[in-house]
Amino acid sequence: MLAHNIADLIQSSAGTTLDLRIDDSRADVSPEIELAEPVVGTARLHRTQSGVIVQVQAKTAVRLECSRCLEPIVQPLQIKFDEEFLIEAPGVEIDPDAFQVDEHHVLDLREALRQYLTLAVPLAPLCRPNCAGLCANCGAPLVDGHECVRADFPTGPFAALSKLKDQTQ
Ligand SMILES: [Zn+2]
Ligand SMILES: [Zn+2]
Repeated sequence: MLAHNIADLIQSSAGTTLDLRIDDSRADVSPEIELAEPVVGTARLHRTQSGVIVQVQAKTAVRLECSRCLEPIVQPLQIKFDEEFLIEAPGVEIDPDAFQVDEHHVLDLREALRQYLTLAVPLAPLCRPNCAGLCANCGAPLVDGHECVRADFPTGPFAALSKLKDQTQ
């Protein structure tokens, strides 16, 4: 569940805490991010004067593509944030961009999780730390022992050098 009715906490005095489990087996936090595992974790809620501070610690895994060799990878991610969700009250002006508990006392963590998940996704994911990328010659991933199908083309660390030599001769 990513949406919880917290009416009891809202009626409690400032300082009251409540622990919630985050377990989204439907895994539909964001249309742009493909989850490989559900988002699982905890949310600790602290009632404040103006709302609820939500401390989230969760983990999931997303499907990405290696930025060098384009192989599909599953990247585990940690999501950790503290956010205050404001509660509407008479005479209280709420910033429309602020997170808030809705008028039915529902705390919906989906948007906050989407934002923090988006931040956690690496910009240049790698299938392994030393991924060598794609062979410039045949386009196949450069795994150890890559035997180029285009044997006519020189490969290896001196390929570029010998090519240069050919051109200058
Ligand atoms: Zn790779
Ligand atoms: Zn090759």
